[in-house]
Amino acid sequence: MPKVFDVVVIGGGPGGYAAAIKCAQLGLKVACIEKYINKNGKPALGGTCANVGCIPSKALLDSSWKYHEAREALAVHGITTGDVKIDVKTMVERKDTVVKKQTDGVAMLLQMNGITWLQGEGKLLAGKRVEFSPHEGENETLEATYVILASGSSPIKIPVVPLVDGLVVDNAGALDFTEVPKRLGVIGAGIIGLELGSVWARLGAQVTVLEAQDTFLPIVDRQVSRETFKQLTKQNLDIKLSARVTGSTVKGNEVEVAYTDANGEQKLTVDKLIVAVGRRPYTEGLLAVDSGVTLDERGFIFVNGQCRTDVPGVYAIGDLVRGPALAHKATEEGVMVAEMIAGHTIHINYDCIPSVIYTHPEVAWVGLSEEQAKARGEEYKTGSFSFAANGRAVAANETAGFVKVVADKRTDRILGVHIIGPQASELIMQAVIAIEFCGSVEDLQLMVFAHPGLSEVLHEAMLDVDGKAIHSAKKKRK
Ligand code: FAD
Ligand code: AMP
Repeated sequence: MPKVFDVVVIGGGPGGYAAAIKCAQLGLKVACIEKYINKNGKPALGGTCANVGCIPSKALLDSSWKYHEAREALAVHGITTGDVKIDVKTMVERKDTVVKKQTDGVAMLLQMNGITWLQGEGKLLAGKRVEFSPHEGENETLEATYVILASGSSPIKIPVVPLVDGLVVDNAGALDFTEVPKRLGVIGAGIIGLELGSVWARLGAQVTVLEAQDTFLPIVDRQVSRETFKQLTKQNLDIKLSARVTGSTVKGNEVEVAYTDANGEQKLTVDKLIVAVGRRPYTEGLLAVDSGVTLDERGFIFVNGQCRTDVPGVYAIGDLVRGPALAHKATEEGVMVAEMIAGHTIHINYDCIPSVIYTHPEVAWVGLSEEQAKARGEEYKTGSFSFAANGRAVAANETAGFVKVVADKRTDRILGVHIIGPQASELIMQAVIAIEFCGSVEDLQLMVFAHPGLSEVLHEAMLDVDGKAIHSAKKKRK
């Protein structure tokens, strides 16, 4: 007899496990199939995010920032530290402990919600049946009223740059270096490349980032991306644009990277090389030929705005489908699908999903950039304000960056907020709340912000939209 569930979820990352928990909370009988085996050979939940993505990268970013501060940012406060050293082994072990806490926590949540975690691989068959191939034991067929596909994404590989254990690595390998490389190459100046490059640059590596495109961070508002470029290049990060990598050769303990730029063919020799050229939806072994689920031209599972696939009762969420590859987007899609299965209607506002780059300063944005507003033909107005003119930022010695607001000229509605600066990842949520509530610039102008606080920069940027910023030398109202 096949095992029967209300819902079978394939994939236990932030999309899949959130969907499973929400379904269980809504009274459904749920199985979650997850195949991941961690570097200690143990099955683990949590997906890319908890195992080799958001969480471990932030653990290393935090450790490396503390090292940088202890070495270079404390003297101005009158604090003498002596000879500050980094023990990479301890730093990486701490990161592993953080990861274990997260992944064990997910396992505990599934257990407490009565969800069956099936350790192995899932494949969608025709008729909402799922073939489960356990890590140990016989295959079995499961029957489900609903199936949620949440198998995530995997790093894109460049065939001319094959991975070589410990030397040429992807995002997972870059979290496990055993020492600080003297010279580190990073292919790709996307969010992942910049975050991982920053970790090792702070610890003393001379980092060269090779980026094929001529524009730096094209998804980010131009003014913010220009400032980000300026700030990062001050930090041992040599970012070369229009530099397309064409091959790599391992020579002993070194890697020779070949790339082309405006001046022709170039070579770069590094001690380690990180390949961070993006991620693609992971559908390997996920779909039987007659599953009925279709892919779009870029390999994403085709879904509508509510994550329904072409097969009634089968949903797909997270990195596997269109939209930004972000953990919180995956989670909210999982929750939305679970609610729909339980007969409730909720939707996601895809225009109001925040993005963050956890460099220093942090970069965060939500909504339309100025360029996007222009391209859409919006009549827009902008305002901006610097952290350098904010008391709290000055007191903390964190004055780099600014907040920029893009708003509708006719209705005053906030269209986008773009931040580079201290705690941008937290500040951006004030903008998310404002935009989600259809807030206008005037709404935020009239609010009282606590002093001294970094969020006063957001307030002043809103005031600046109408030339009304207080701590500004500008005399005239716009
Ligand atoms: P995943 O997390 O990829 O989970 C999918 C799971 O499905 C995996 O565990 C996989 O083993 C399993 N699986 C696949 N196929 C099968 C199968 N057939 N059977 C059973 N199991 C299967 N996002 C942010 O929002 N903030 C960040 O700061 C951030 N930092 C990142 C840093 C790095 C270095 C990387 C690589 C990514 C980062 N991301 C970040 C992106 C984030 O990790 C992803 O958007 C998120 O994990 C997607 O969630 P998901 O549930 O769709 O897929
Ligand atoms: P993201 O998709 O945001 O993670 O960014 C990945 C980046 O890698 C993109 O900006 C690509 O332009 C860049 N990229 C892809 N292939 C190459 C290559 N062969 N050489 C240099 N950069 C590349």
